[in-house]
Amino acid sequence: MSISIIIPVYNEEESLPLLHQALHHTLDTLDQPWEVILVDDGSRDKSAEILETLALADPEHVRAVILRRNFGQTTAIAAGIDHATGEVIILMDADLQNDPVDIPRMLAKLDEGYDVVSGWRFDRQDEFVTRTLPSRMANSLISWVTGVHLHDYGCTLKAYRREVITGFRLYGEMHRFIPAYAGSVGAKIVELPVTHHARRFGKTKYGLERTAKVVLDLFTVKFLLSFAQKPIYLFGGAGLALMAISAIGMLLLMLRRILFGTFVLTSPFFIIAVMLVMMGFQSILMGLIAELLVRTYHESQAKPTYTVKKAWANGTRSDGR
Ligand code: UDP
Ligand code: MG
Repeated sequence: MSISIIIPVYNEEESLPLLHQALHHTLDTLDQPWEVILVDDGSRDKSAEILETLALADPEHVRAVILRRNFGQTTAIAAGIDHATGEVIILMDADLQNDPVDIPRMLAKLDEGYDVVSGWRFDRQDEFVTRTLPSRMANSLISWVTGVHLHDYGCTLKAYRREVITGFRLYGEMHRFIPAYAGSVGAKIVELPVTHHARRFGKTKYGLERTAKVVLDLFTVKFLLSFAQKPIYLFGGAGLALMAISAIGMLLLMLRRILFGTFVLTSPFFIIAVMLVMMGFQSILMGLIAELLVRTYHESQAKPTYTVKKAWANGTRSDGR
C-alpha cells in the first residue's frame, strides 16, 4: 500500500526541517512507498521557501503545494488530498504536536481491515480551559449527534483508505467530521491512542471561538447525514408540526366559542395560530425547493445516491479494484 501524508502548514518555519527528519526516521523503516504533501496555507514566515527547498532536495518523498493566500486548515487539507496519489491517506499537523512514530501502528490497523484509524490524544498537551475542556464537550456532542463514537474528533492524526476520503468536499472547519461522514457510508472505524507533544515553536492558531464554529458545523453535518437525500422530511415535518399545533389551537378556540360564547378574536392565540399556519406552509415549500436542489446535485453530476463496497460480474470484480 502506498502512503500519502498530508500536512497543512501555516507559519511553522522552525518545525518543518525537524518534521521532515521525523517522517524519514519512521517511514524509511517501512517497506512501503510514501510521499508527504506539504501544503503551505499562505504563511507569512519562511515556510513556503522551506517547503520548496525540501521538495527540490527530496523529490522522491516531498511534494509541496503553495496556496496563494491563507484559506484555513480544512481547505489546505483538501488541497493536499487533491494532490495525493497514495492508497492510504494520513492527515497530521505540521507543528510536531503529532508524532510520525504512531504511523506504523495506524497502518497495521488498516491492514487488519479497518477503513479509518482515528488518533486519540489521550494525554493531550494543550491549554486545559480554552482547548482541552471545550474539545471534550464537543467530542461527546459530536459522538451523540452523529452516532459515530470517538474520543477525539479534533486530533488531526488519522489514517484513511483512499476511497472513504475522496468522495466528498470539505468546507469550513469540517475536516474533523471526516470520520462521521466515513461512518455514514459504512466505513469500519477504530480508535488508536497516539502521542501528543506540547507545541515547541510558534503558537496555536486557534482559541475558544473555534468551539462555536464546530458546533455550527455540526448542524450542517447532521443535516447532510440525515436529510441530504430527503430534505422534505425535515422541512415538511417541521411544517406539518406547526400546522398541527395551529389546528389544535383553532379547534380549542372554536370549542370555547360554542360552549361559553367567548369570541374567538379575544384570544392572542388566534393570531399566533394564523402565523403558525403560514410558517408551516412556507417550511413545506422550502422543503420542495430543497428536493429540487437534491435532484440537481445528483443528476447534474451523475452522482449516485449510494456507495458500492464490492461488485461482481461475470465472475470478476467489476468495481475497479
Ligand atoms: N493551519 C493551517 N492554516 C490555518 C491554521 C492552521 O494550515 O489557517 C495548520 C497549522 O500550521 C498546523 C495545523 O493546521 O499544522 C493545526 O494548527 P494548530 O497547531 O494551530 O492547531 P492546534 O493543534 O492548536 O489545534
Ligand atoms: Mg497544534
